[in-house]
Amino acid sequence: MSNVIGMSEYVGSSVANSYCWLCQKPVSARALFCPICGTIQPVREIDHYARLGMEKRLDIAVDLLERQYTTMSCMLAPERFLIRGLGERGHAARQLEALIVAYETLREPLKRGRYWLRLNEKESKEDAASNPLVIELRQELTNAADPSHCDRLAQKAGQALEHGVKVLMHALRGENWEEANMTLSQLDGVEIILNEVRERRTGLASQIRE
Ligand SMILES: [Zn+2]
Repeated sequence: MSNVIGMSEYVGSSVANSYCWLCQKPVSARALFCPICGTIQPVREIDHYARLGMEKRLDIAVDLLERQYTTMSCMLAPERFLIRGLGERGHAARQLEALIVAYETLREPLKRGRYWLRLNEKESKEDAASNPLVIELRQELTNAADPSHCDRLAQKAGQALEHGVKVLMHALRGENWEEANMTLSQLDGVEIILNEVRERRTGLASQIRE
C-alpha cells in the first residue's frame, strides 16, 4: 500500500490520537486498519481530505482522488470481511460509507466548493429567491408552455450552472467568501429551476403523446 498517500503514516504521526478498539495500541485517526493487530478501525471524525489521504487543497488532482478511492474501497469491500465478526463487518461497512461520502463530495466541484466554505468556516445562508438570474429563469419557467421552450430554458440553466461553478471556484481561490456564498445560493436556485423545467418537459411530452 506504499503507493497510497497517507496509508503508511500510522504510529508516531501527529494524528496518532486514537487507540485500536481491539489491542488498545495507538492508531492514526485516519487509519483503516490497526498497524499492530491489523483489525479494521471504527469511523473517526476526520475531514474528507484526510479520509482519502489527500492534501487539503481546493483544486485537487482528480486522478489521485480516483486512485485513492479505488484502492481504499477495495480494501473495504464487504466480501473481505465475510469471515469476520459482526462488529468488524459493521466497521468496514461504515468506513466504506464514509469513504463514499468523502469521495463524492471532493469529486464534484460544486459539492467540493460548498465543503471548502464549511471547512474554512465561511459558509453563510444567502437567499436564492432574490438573485436576479434566478428571478429571470423563474419568470421564463412560468412562461414555458411547450417542449422546445423547456429545452431552451434547460440549456440556458445548464450553461448558467457550468459558468457558476467556474465563478465559485474563482471566488474561493481568491478567498472572496461573500461572492462564493452568493454564487452558491445562485447555483442552488438555478439547479432547482433546472429540475422543475425537466419535470415540466416530461409532463408536456406525455401530454403530446396522449
Ligand atoms: Zn490493534
